[in-house]
Amino acid sequence: MYLRILGKSGHKIYMFTQINFFEKCSFSKMVNKSLDTAIEEYVPRSVRIQEPIRKLETLREMGFRGLDDLIDLIAKEHIQFPILTNAHYASLLDKDDPEDPLRKIVIPTEEEILRYVRRQGQFDTSGERTNTQAPGLQHKYAPTAIALVNALCASYCRFCFRKRIFMGDEEFYSTGRFPNKEAIRYLQDHREINTLLLTGGDAFMLDNDTVRSLTGILSDPSLDHIRTVRFGTRMVVYQPQRIDDELGQILQDFRDTTGKRVMVGTHVNHPREVTPETKDAFEHLLDHKIALYNQTVLLKGINDDPAVLYELFDKKLAFNDNRPYYLFHDRPVSGSEHMQVRLDDGLHIYSEVAKRMTGPHKPRYVMSTKGGKMEIDSMHPTKPNVIILKYHSAKDMSLTGKAVFYDLRENNPFWYEPTVA
Ligand code: SF4
Repeated sequence: MYLRILGKSGHKIYMFTQINFFEKCSFSKMVNKSLDTAIEEYVPRSVRIQEPIRKLETLREMGFRGLDDLIDLIAKEHIQFPILTNAHYASLLDKDDPEDPLRKIVIPTEEEILRYVRRQGQFDTSGERTNTQAPGLQHKYAPTAIALVNALCASYCRFCFRKRIFMGDEEFYSTGRFPNKEAIRYLQDHREINTLLLTGGDAFMLDNDTVRSLTGILSDPSLDHIRTVRFGTRMVVYQPQRIDDELGQILQDFRDTTGKRVMVGTHVNHPREVTPETKDAFEHLLDHKIALYNQTVLLKGINDDPAVLYELFDKKLAFNDNRPYYLFHDRPVSGSEHMQVRLDDGLHIYSEVAKRMTGPHKPRYVMSTKGGKMEIDSMHPTKPNVIILKYHSAKDMSLTGKAVFYDLRENNPFWYEPTVA
């Protein structure tokens, strides 16, 4: 669409190939005209999910045991309960063991199905509805915006805090899809935003041509204040073959032509999820000098064990040049409350892992609440039931860095919910 070259002075100059530079109109109008056209012409296309599995009956036919009660329950309730995994991830699961940690990630419990039927529980634990400023665009912390580029994943995590997107009920509103003109205008108008996180769904469910178009739109000079672009993905686990060399090259070109920092935030929860194909996926990005960082959700019965987390953080991530950046406390999302650990238990598990990790690879243990992202810091030195939480990023910026003393005997020991104006 346009070329970015360096002028004699070293300043970047933009050449829009489809625009006559001698037209008597202002540069900014030309930019917007070109950008609007690019947005109008943007057609999101998804990669194919390889051998998708959308029914528990299919897993049963593949030899998975322990599914009969769930299948009967779904039939009895006469519902289409959204389930999705695929051949690659299913190959990692233990067919014989219903308590297999990886099975719990993609196979629901009876409780989740019943809560879905009764419409019980929370589907927006982070306040995303109120943070949405334009279709598909959220702005919670001043420097960072979040763009939802699709509603698709290659498997569904039962604890997903955006499960409203795939649960297919109008009640679980949709926030629209980025990019669109309104969202781009918002970004142009908010010069304080220096970081854009592209997520969904999964950012890399978009095919390579779409990622190329998207990066083209984000290369517009009117968005130069966005210095860092992060892509959020779990494809490295669910369909690692999708992360190919061409994708790495597209991201590298985006970085090289715009000077933006381009990062990929992966989501890996268990060492068994890191297969040879996953390592190849990391390498396709690292070969193109794309920085990797990882987020892990602390999940009861899945990875709430210091030995498991250490193996993941140290051997599977850090030693493959993927920085284990955040350990997230699990949110109380409808139907997955049983996956939460107590805050004090979580802190104990985290501390055991952290003391074995070297500085740059030591993750932060955080929780993302409606009021902001809070670091789960320490137990009070003299009050055994009081945990200290600190605002890492706050919606109300004046709270950033402030500590909260939270008494676990008098409050919900699994989650802290700040009062938000
Ligand atoms: S991959 Fe991410 S967005 Fe998709 S279901 Fe899992 S947690 Fe949710």
